[in-house]
Amino acid sequence: MLRCPNCQSIDVGKIGVNQYYCWGCFIEMTISKGKINTHQVEEDGSLSSLDDLFSDEDRTINF
Ligand SMILES: [Zn+2]
Repeated sequence: MLRCPNCQSIDVGKIGVNQYYCWGCFIEMTISKGKINTHQVEEDGSLSSLDDLFSDEDRTINF
């Protein structure tokens, strides 16, 4: 089960291949090589990376 590294919510929806969206804090997640890459959607529609906010451990997927 995928858990949001930002808000720890499990209310995460799949929006595409390896792409997920957190309904708790409204960030987008992309799964790549067993790691979660997090992005925030800005008001202008662009994506900014939030990966710096999380440790490698937080971003590793534990299924
Ligand atoms: Zn979240």
